Amino acid sequence: MIYLDHNASALMRPSVVEGVVSAMGRQVGNPSSVHWAGRAARQQLDEARRSVAALVNVHESRILFTSGGTEANNLALFGVARTREGRGAIITSAVEHPSILHACDLLARRGLTVNRLPVDGSGRVDPEDVVPLIDQETILVSVMAANNETGVLQPIREIGVLCRSRGVPFHVDATQWAGRLPLDADGIPADLLTLSAHKMGGPKGVGALVSSSSLTLAPRMVGGGQERGRRAGTENLPGIVGFGLAARELLGGLSGEADRVGALRGYLETRVLEVVPDAVIFGNAVPRLPNTTAVGVRGVDGETLVMTLDLAGCAISSGSACSSGKTTPSHVLVAMGVDPALSQSAVRISLGWDSSKNSVDQFIIAFERSVCRLRQGSALS
Ligand code: PMP
Repeated sequence: MIYLDHNASALMRPSVVEGVVSAMGRQVGNPSSVHWAGRAARQQLDEARRSVAALVNVHESRILFTSGGTEANNLALFGVARTREGRGAIITSAVEHPSILHACDLLARRGLTVNRLPVDGSGRVDPEDVVPLIDQETILVSVMAANNETGVLQPIREIGVLCRSRGVPFHVDATQWAGRLPLDADGIPADLLTLSAHKMGGPKGVGALVSSSSLTLAPRMVGGGQERGRRAGTENLPGIVGFGLAARELLGGLSGEADRVGALRGYLETRVLEVVPDAVIFGNAVPRLPNTTAVGVRGVDGETLVMTLDLAGCAISSGSACSSGKTTPSHVLVAMGVDPALSQSAVRISLGWDSSKNSVDQFIIAFERSVCRLRQGSALS
């Protein structure tokens, strides 16, 4: 079986599995309890917080654990909006993850103004487009670091500097970037930053919002006052321990891993173009994540290609996994101005820490056969 869908979710690293199992089996305490068991749990929680903080180069007090990237994105948007009593304007991009887009739709229905930045043909926002949109009404700018479908990187540093100079909080959804390329939240500079453990070899259902101490954020969950009163509820300790271990493992070897995966992606794309010379690789002229390839294969339906490859034991994705099952073309490719027939044919191949040349070679054999078969089928019909 070949798994090349790491942007949907990655396999947990063995050290992470060990840590999660141990936290589940041996850690009885609640981190909020004062007795020995609680203190032991608190110690593990604090250690994980330090590791995640180190991954994004911030002080540990700025890490707020959540149930994943979706919750962190929701908390960033609703948390800021609620402190302004639902008034003001948010600037975001047209290519964000649904957890941002749908949150913005909801806020717009409640009366907020939402401005969506366009992208160019490569999928990049132009920071100059942000300038005229910022005014006294602007309560937040939210732009993703790396796109989940194409891997295209946004100019978050330029946008961050613009926002900082105008005193507007900047949120970055770094779900796909974190763990794939080095990340420095203050260097961006970002006031809020979303992370998700399961994209980087940690467990599913755990993430974090990195939050600036000077920013007021209204909690979405109230109760016991955990996470400095910003996110109530007993912490998911096994998940958080796993997140910390994944972050710690990445800290040591991130740039080496990015180089290895980048070289493997280069090999994959060369082979894709050898076996299907008219394939189109989206965003290949601009900086991208080292692990992601979004490819259009004219004359082939992307969903059908994914299903055909699945029958051959290869797991990839058409558009983003979060919106698969829908037959509408990807909002990301539409925003890039890709013609509808080509965007309907798009599939995403995403590599990870456990991907090898052998898995790419096996995938290419299945890819060539599947494209050939589907093209012959459509020529006959
Ligand atoms: N943002 C982006 C860019 C993503 O790719 C994802 C996951 N598909 C999310 C947010 C949501 O993360 P999670 O799965 O942890 O809720």
